Amino acid sequence: MKVDGHCYCGKITFEAEADPASVVVCHCTDCQELTGTTYRTVVTARNLAILSGTPKVWLKQADSGRTRAYAFCPDCGSPIYSGPPEGSLESVSLRIGTLRQRRELPPARQIWCRSALSWAMDLNGIAKHDKQ
Ligand SMILES: [Zn+2]
Ligand SMILES: [Zn+2]
Repeated sequence: MKVDGHCYCGKITFEAEADPASVVVCHCTDCQELTGTTYRTVVTARNLAILSGTPKVWLKQADSGRTRAYAFCPDCGSPIYSGPPEGSLESVSLRIGTLRQRRELPPARQIWCRSALSWAMDLNGIAKHDKQ
């Protein structure tokens, strides 16, 4: 499905072709620290086109030795995608929080559950308010 999105400040805009069956919630500790929150939700996408702005790319080497590029807005810090270190945008992992279509992209599975924050696995019992 065609998706489009933007970083929080709006300088970076993009579009891509996402696979709606590939949405994953990742509970790994890298995702917790890189997002600054409890877990990351991503979708696999093809042919990412950056329409405006230039993301800052940070290269991370995994324990496996594999390097991955993490791209984020240099101004507001929104994470946009991760992809291969050489910079190809043919196959990337998009962060669904920046996608306009995120409500139509429910996750199919959760990974790295062994490092999940136990309370983040079930928010149903926590008091709910429509606004702040
Ligand atoms: Zn921004
Ligand atoms: Zn992760």
